Amino acid sequence: MNVLEKLHMQSIPVYDIASQVGWCEKQMELKHLFKAKVTVTESVKTGREAHSQLEAEVEIKVPLRPATWAERMFTEFYTAKLKIDSLSGGARVREIKLYGSINGFRLTGKVDQLQSVDGSVMISDDKFVNPEKVPWEMPLTHKVQLMLYKRMLDDIVSGSYGYQNFSRSYNTATMQLGAEFAEQARSMGVPDNQISVDAAARGFFDSAKGLRIANNLEVRYKNRGTREELKVYSLNYDKNEIDQITRFALKYWNGERQALPVPENEVYKCRSCDFYGNQCKVWWPPKG
Ligand code: SF4
Repeated sequence: MNVLEKLHMQSIPVYDIASQVGWCEKQMELKHLFKAKVTVTESVKTGREAHSQLEAEVEIKVPLRPATWAERMFTEFYTAKLKIDSLSGGARVREIKLYGSINGFRLTGKVDQLQSVDGSVMISDDKFVNPEKVPWEMPLTHKVQLMLYKRMLDDIVSGSYGYQNFSRSYNTATMQLGAEFAEQARSMGVPDNQISVDAAARGFFDSAKGLRIANNLEVRYKNRGTREELKVYSLNYDKNEIDQITRFALKYWNGERQALPVPENEVYKCRSCDFYGNQCKVWWPPKG
């Protein structure tokens, strides 16, 4: 059984690669194996609310009511294309789902924000934290997330991952939309020959191919109570660095090695881990 099957997954989320190299690979694996055990903390809830609020500020609403996976995919691509097409003159859009591939694995992710800046499009992310928790440099988890989004968008722009790859990988030609949903699309003015997942995906990939993605990537740390901006970190994309990081991460997904726990000098991470002393006893019992 391969690792994706063991974890009941069909693709590798960017977030997981970021977590495995930036926090704890074993924790990332256990989260998938024991989904019900993971605590949704107050800070996670507040972060989700803050993200929804930001999304609502620039949301592009379409009057579609998807009821199936195929209809959700159509809606997602149709809306994402509208967002991409609106990117000019400083405009920003949020929450764009991305599909890609990494060493033969499906890769998925959701970019927090794309903003048109001086003819390019900048990728950025918002993190909501307590003021005393603002990191003194950009954590590796956030850096990897941003660099992988950039890599995925660059792959779309260069054509190394395009509509054909996506359509083959997800078998979109066989996806059917319901009659009622098709009618909703028609009443929005979508021509009949564009009412399919294939057509919506093609539209998105064609639009995204025309983007020029900036090398500069940004994370904004914001007060999770007041939403005020506390700190902004920038970094320049380094393809060699992200290739090296993903080579290491993929050894786990390829089944070349078991999930690694944190090293001894990072045992402090275990204290806030749901699995400490339960499914994970690597550093249990605590010393001293
Ligand atoms: S207890 Fe520590 S080593 Fe084990 S999964 Fe949690 S963070 Fe990782």
